[in-house]
Amino acid sequence: MAYVISVIPGDGIGPVIVRSARKVLEAVSEAYGFKLSFVEALAGDSAKRDFGEPLPKDSLDKIVSSDACLKGPVGETAKDVVVFLRQKLDLYANIRPFKTLPGVSSKWKDVDLVIVRENTEDLYKCVEDVGEEYAVALMVLTKKACTRIAKVAFQMAEVRRKKVTVVHKINVLRSFELFRTAALGVARSYPSVTVEEMLVDNMAYQLVLNPQKFDVILTTNMFGDILSDEAAGIVGSLGLAYSANVGDNFGLFEPVHGTAPDIDPSYANPLAQVMASKMMLEWLGRTKGNAAMLEAAKGLEGAVLSLLRSSENLTPDLGGKATTENLTKKLVNVLLKGKSTS
Ligand code: ATP
Repeated sequence: MAYVISVIPGDGIGPVIVRSARKVLEAVSEAYGFKLSFVEALAGDSAKRDFGEPLPKDSLDKIVSSDACLKGPVGETAKDVVVFLRQKLDLYANIRPFKTLPGVSSKWKDVDLVIVRENTEDLYKCVEDVGEEYAVALMVLTKKACTRIAKVAFQMAEVRRKKVTVVHKINVLRSFELFRTAALGVARSYPSVTVEEMLVDNMAYQLVLNPQKFDVILTTNMFGDILSDEAAGIVGSLGLAYSANVGDNFGLFEPVHGTAPDIDPSYANPLAQVMASKMMLEWLGRTKGNAAMLEAAKGLEGAVLSLLRSSENLTPDLGGKATTENLTKKLVNVLLKGKSTS
């Protein structure tokens, strides 16, 4: 049986890096013995231009009836596509790992942290009233959403370095009490995990000074969005930052970055998209009970790590000269070689 993957190519560099990720997924599924079938779901600025809406019904239907969604970056219409899908499909956990990697230049080393971001509420609920003389946006938090995201963070910390940093801005907004209380309540069920609290401004500062001391960072929607780009800069490039949007029944996997309108797409780094695919394999492997997919995810990660060691494979954002296509071909070779010798 083939698992159906809905694919949103997106805008800007999106179609190029998504094509790369698909090639890698095709190679990995063949090598590890499972089947994927891809169905394209057009969405984003190009869909708005061609069909008059950023997320046509046909695309939404394809996404909803697939086993998982692999999404490229979309441009100006991101709110109508990804923010909408996160809420519509209740993909409440946005999981964003950041790790310094051998071969990737960074001012820091030994960074290994995950941002666990609540993905359905906060200011991104987009409850707004904008007039000529005023603008209001509601920050919406519910106990249910704060509690379930805290559970994700603590479960993750339990199998990592057992530390959760709860990030809020309680000194200014009383509303964060709900988030804090939920997080500390969940923490009681995870006695082996150390909890600390941090105001978001201090968090931004500490993240630059001492990123190594963080393990799991649990925060609300907008803070998580902003801290993610900071963390991506710390580990070397947005081109390496990937994420999962997961709920109880569905997962959507995408790079953290946007459409990179300032670069030549044929030199875009596809590795964030590829690593988002790796997360998708892990999630499918776990939720469908497919061991081959879990093995494939490991093999793919190993291939990416070994590829990064050689500067000739790197795209310009990482200081190299490789094109997206060259990097992809090399990655597939490394992957297949790794599999045949394992
Ligand atoms: P958008 O409006 O779509 O969010 P943006 O330019 O505001 O686009 P990003 O696309 O996230 O934001 O890009 C931020 C910076 O990181 C840009 O200089 C971009 O070229 C670079 N960048 C992002 N992703 C990649 C990538 N995959 N490969 C190379 N450079 C990238």
